[in-house]
Amino acid sequence: MRFAEHWNWCTVETIRDVTPQIREFRLRPDSGGVPPCPAGSHIGVNVLIDGQPARRSYSLVETNDPSTYRIAVRLAPDSRGGSRGMWSLRAGARIETSNPTSLLDIDWTRQNYCLIAGGIGITPIMAIAAALRRTNIDPTLHYAVKSRGDAAFLDELSAMLGDRLIMHTSDEGARIDLDATFRALPDDAIAVICGPMRMLEAARRAWNDSGRAPADLRYETFGSSGLMPTAEFRVRLKDTDTELVVPQNSSMLDALNAAGFEVISDCQRGECGVCAVDVVAVDGEIDHRDVFFSDQQKRDNRKICPCVSRAIGAITIDTLYRPEAA
Ligand SMILES: Cc1cc2nc3c(=O)[nH]c(=O)nc-3n(C[C@H](O)[C@H](O)[C@H](O)COP(=O)(O)OP(=O)(O)OC[C@H]3O[C@@H](n4cnc5c(N)ncnc54)[C@H](O)[C@@H]3O)c2cc1C
Repeated sequence: MRFAEHWNWCTVETIRDVTPQIREFRLRPDSGGVPPCPAGSHIGVNVLIDGQPARRSYSLVETNDPSTYRIAVRLAPDSRGGSRGMWSLRAGARIETSNPTSLLDIDWTRQNYCLIAGGIGITPIMAIAAALRRTNIDPTLHYAVKSRGDAAFLDELSAMLGDRLIMHTSDEGARIDLDATFRALPDDAIAVICGPMRMLEAARRAWNDSGRAPADLRYETFGSSGLMPTAEFRVRLKDTDTELVVPQNSSMLDALNAAGFEVISDCQRGECGVCAVDVVAVDGEIDHRDVFFSDQQKRDNRKICPCVSRAIGAITIDTLYRPEAA
């Protein structure tokens, strides 16, 4: 764990639907206020899934009320149930949250910022846009959604950014042209992006093709839904007789650790690569859901990030875990 976490109780103060699929919550911490944190930070939330506590993260949405956390939660239909747990909350409910942290590590000293949000990825991006506006920097914000009705906080964003808010609505045939967008940026620009996996991968490719410094593309994933269905699959451990079944509602990392094959991990979102293990054989197909490996490494299928990535069928791996050495 990278940060010392402090957990506090909050009261759900207000709840409001900002789109049919996105619900806004204002949470009042018992501690009396929101600790200082960089724009783009998120909090951990203890949420109940079928009565069992689980942890989910939610980015802090821009607010001018320093005494409440403002978050927005998209109801994820094909999920383990964390967002459903959040949606079941009512005003007055008590909920435990961790102190805010940011993994985006943004360089705030630049003059030019290109912000890109896909769907619910608008939550940290809106906070970053507001922070830049407060320092008199005019970022451009590209906001990609399936349809206009899916766009959260449009009024606030328009008031904040005017014509620097550029909507890309796929059911109106408007898709963001990442190559052209990045080509047109001044040399000192950095891009900050939060959105679905396909968008992040496309952005990473376009950014690299534009010859820009990789570190000038900052991104955050919300945990990946991958390119294939989330289904049960099998994992065989090299040089053992062990075959594990990874259920639909568990990660491969959790399944390995639960079976005693210890794999160290950090971000658990497929960003840091700490949990990567060797793939020895694939009997089916791997769905690489990380943003750590390059496209070529994913095609090579020699490593997998078990925190997020999955398979269809079976794979054989070597975790390098040797019980006799433990
Ligand atoms: C830093 C950060 C900030 C975030 N900010 C926000 C925010 O502002 N708003 C917001 O709505 N969400 C945010 N999220 C996502 C949020 O934490 C939850 O992941 C989200 O609410 C979905 O939770 P869930 O339990 O309903 O779905 P999950 O079970 O977590 O499922 C999410 C997706 O993963 C896939 N999936 C399902 N089961 C598995 C499995 N066993 N292994 C791997 N993948 C699986 C599903 O296809 C699904 O689409 C953020 C996440 C992070 C890490």
